[in-house]
Amino acid sequence: MTDLPVTEEQMTCIICPMGCSMEVRIEHDGLEKRVLSVRDNGCPRGEQYAFKEVRHPTRTLTTTVAVKNGEAPLVPVKTSAEIPKQFLFSAMEILRRIVVDAPVSCGQIIIKDLLGTSVAVTACADVEKK
Ligand code: SF4
Repeated sequence: MTDLPVTEEQMTCIICPMGCSMEVRIEHDGLEKRVLSVRDNGCPRGEQYAFKEVRHPTRTLTTTVAVKNGEAPLVPVKTSAEIPKQFLFSAMEILRRIVVDAPVSCGQIIIKDLLGTSVAVTACADVEKK
């Protein structure tokens, strides 16, 4: 038995449309967090999600970037994999300043290595040149 502080947090699993509302007990050891237990998860994936969300939260980033001389002013883009959640704000700042020349094709790499994560940002649609 340790004297480390323990909190109980509500967490919504985002792995499937069921969106289970889970109760997660977390032990705090300075900046380190450990999941002690997960309740109300509808399946084992919820527990895996809670562990990952507490230790190393990641997200796929979807947004748009500006297009120059295109038939549309913006093209939707997304990361090719999840990136650490704490990088989302910096990534948005970078993508906000990017302007790509039309034509843009779906799957085109907009950024090869986003913030040193080895994750690319790719276009999700075609934009023809006007
Ligand atoms: S715990 Fe399982 S059933 Fe519930 S939302 Fe997550 S993946 Fe879906």
